[in-house]
Amino acid sequence: MLALQGDVREHVRSLTAVGARASAVRRAADLDDVDGLVLPGGESTTISRLLEVFELLEPLRTHVAEGLPVYGSCAGMVLLADEVLDGRPDQQGVGGLDVVVRRNAFGRQVDSFETDLPFAGVGDVHAVFIRAPWVETTGERAEVLARVPDSGGRAAGRVVAVRQGRVLATSFHPELTGDDRVHGLFVDMVKGASS
Ligand code: GLN
Repeated sequence: MLALQGDVREHVRSLTAVGARASAVRRAADLDDVDGLVLPGGESTTISRLLEVFELLEPLRTHVAEGLPVYGSCAGMVLLADEVLDGRPDQQGVGGLDVVVRRNAFGRQVDSFETDLPFAGVGDVHAVFIRAPWVETTGERAEVLARVPDSGGRAAGRVVAVRQGRVLATSFHPELTGDDRVHGLFVDMVKGASS
C-alpha cells in the first residue's frame, strides 16, 4: 500500500478483508518486500510531489515496468495513466497504463457522483466517484472493464475501469463501499503473477 497521502486506511481494510497482508510503502526499499502495490485515492498532484520528495518515483516506474502488479483508484488511476489531461504542469506520473486520463473529468461542480455499473469479471458494482478522472482514450493494450451506464448523463459511456496485464485502475473508490470484490480481483492478479 503506497502510504504517502490519500485513503490508505480504507484500502488496507479492503485488502485485509480479501485475505491479503498489507504493509505501508514509503521508501524505495519497501518496494522489494511487496508482491503488489495499491495507489490510493487522494490527490494525485500531492502524491506525485511526495513520490519525488521520498525518491520513490523512479523506483516505482521501474518496478511497474518490470511487472509489479499495481492497482490505482481515482488519484491512483491518474498516476498510472501514460498521459493526463487537465493535470498540473509539474505533475509526474508513474505510467504503465496505455490510456489518456482526464483529471477531475466529471466537472468542477460534480464533487461526487454514484451509480451502479457492470464490471467485467466482477458483476454489478456500486461505484462512488469523488472528483474523479475518466479514461478519455484507451490505447490498444488496455482492456476496458467498466463504463458509466446510459443513465449517467454527460458521463454516460465513459470508461472508468481498465486493466492492462498486471495494471488495474478504477476512476471510482471500491474501498469506500464495503464491497471488496475489486480488491479480490487485484489480489487474484497478484497471486497469478507470483505463481
Ligand atoms: N481529483 C483528484 C486528483 O487528481 C482525485 C480525487 C480522488 O482520488 N478522489 O487527483
